Amino acid sequence: MARHMTGMPAPIERLVIVGGGTAGWMAAAAFSRFLNNGHTKITLIESAEIGTIGVGEATIPPILTFNKMLGINENEFIAATQGTFKAGIEFVNWGAIGERYVHPFGFHGREIHGVAFHQLYLRARSRRPMPPISEWSMSGAAIRLGRFARPGTDASTPFNQLYYAYQFDAALYARFLRTYAERGGIERIEGKVVDVALNGESGFVETLTLADGRRIEGDLFLDCSGFRGLLIEQALKTGYEDWSHWLPCNRAVAVATENAVPPEPLTRATARSHGWQWRIPLQHRMGNGLVYSSAYLSDDDARDTLMANLEGPPLADPRTLSFTTGRRRLSWNKNVITLGLSSGFVEPLESTSIHLVQAGIARLIALFPDKRCTDVERNEYNRAMKDLAEDIRDFVILHFHATRRNDSPFWDYCRTMQPPDSLARKIALFREKGRVFRDNFELFATPSWVAVMFGQGIWPDGYDPIVDALDEDHVDRAIEQMRRDYEATAQRLPTQAEFIARCCAAPGSPLRAAVAAS
Ligand SMILES: Cc1cc2nc3c(=O)[nH]c(=O)nc-3n(C[C@H](O)[C@H](O)[C@H](O)COP(=O)(O)OP(=O)(O)OC[C@H]3O[C@@H](n4cnc5c(N)ncnc54)[C@H](O)[C@@H]3O)c2cc1C
Repeated sequence: MARHMTGMPAPIERLVIVGGGTAGWMAAAAFSRFLNNGHTKITLIESAEIGTIGVGEATIPPILTFNKMLGINENEFIAATQGTFKAGIEFVNWGAIGERYVHPFGFHGREIHGVAFHQLYLRARSRRPMPPISEWSMSGAAIRLGRFARPGTDASTPFNQLYYAYQFDAALYARFLRTYAERGGIERIEGKVVDVALNGESGFVETLTLADGRRIEGDLFLDCSGFRGLLIEQALKTGYEDWSHWLPCNRAVAVATENAVPPEPLTRATARSHGWQWRIPLQHRMGNGLVYSSAYLSDDDARDTLMANLEGPPLADPRTLSFTTGRRRLSWNKNVITLGLSSGFVEPLESTSIHLVQAGIARLIALFPDKRCTDVERNEYNRAMKDLAEDIRDFVILHFHATRRNDSPFWDYCRTMQPPDSLARKIALFREKGRVFRDNFELFATPSWVAVMFGQGIWPDGYDPIVDALDEDHVDRAIEQMRRDYEATAQRLPTQAEFIARCCAAPGSPLRAAVAAS
């Protein structure tokens, strides 16, 4: 055995995470569990002086897997983060002013004899007017009625098709994960990194120097330093691929407000004349922000637009943030892996940024290196992260490009731009017979593409001929029954406020009192 081991490459002994925002603490929490091996020391450095971005509060369903992986109790988690549940996103004014649609999580309907539901829907729609396809979704029905309950593992159909994610207070989320990670043995250092020393031969990062002179050495570094990309860009000059020509928004102005209504189980994205506005309901407040392009709207006008379109009184002054949509050319360069905003950013329209952190962590666990950080592992990681980022990019571009809006130069640009070839191909295929072919391990499944294509007004010229092999009356009766089942099941659920008040309200949450009084 000993002889065997002498040839083994040296394992990572010091993992250093730079940054204590959502990305840094997600990584710290995950590695406190998965690198709990007795020989890897994990250190996280964060700087209170610099702070965190303080936004990033809506997620998508895979986050449930992350929490399960960490063994987090969902009720405790929701209570600790002032969280709410999210069954999908409602898009207002995207296809055209006055239109709205829902992108619900999970499926639309059920296949019949292996034929995708949306194809059955398309045939029915070719014969008569049909309600929106989201009426054939458990999550869609929950959103429409403002209801929510957690489907247990033994829940019956169609309740078990209620897919959901979380909305939470970003600062409380980082605090929750910090407690978890510190319990797991992570060392946290408060300090500002002022210098990064590279090995003269390999170019690997070796030592970080803090403002007070302390030196931190490491074998592997996670750059979670936010947009500045302290290690991946400032030290390693990795380069950035700019996607602004497809996604021209480069600013956001954000403000929290008091809740004017009980929290609904959805994030809302409302298109405005030069961008769009998010609305994320939490237990104790509403998160709001306007994402816009500085080429078309001044910061002052953006702030005025946001403040004129709030539902409740603001809790603070609005904050403006700048970003460049795109991605770092390599997610893993030398011995540095970038997670979070340091790896790039696609605007938060489909709440994908925190998911990219999670996906990066999962892939890094699967490809965890030894001290050499070989090209084989690095290339595999980079390929997977590039594919994922580009899939997300295309899905987000679809929302801007597939519009009939012509009320501003911003929408004229988005509507008439040339999308990436990969997206153009998808749209062309869908326009013919409503087909969606997924490449590799794309994040968004067919129902998501269908929800947004239909929602934005891309109606195929026909449907898949395979549908005509199925008896039309039988299919029509079956799909009508499905719709009634979703509706009836959602009717039986509590409102989201009742559900939260019952099992996961934050200490002192206004929801408890509101529900008790109703
Ligand atoms: C407008 C907007 C809205 C968003 N909405 C969503 C959303 O709804 N859903 C979603 O999934 N994502 C969203 N995101 C993205 C999300 O905010 C980020 O993915 C997430 O917060 C992770 O950020 P981060 O940890 O990478 O960076 P940050 O929060 O910026 O953290 C960086 C950390 O690095 C530290 N640091 C930096 N420099 C140094 C230094 N020299 N020394 C020591 N420490 C240093 C900082 O102190 C901080 O702790 C949004 C982003 C924006 C801009």
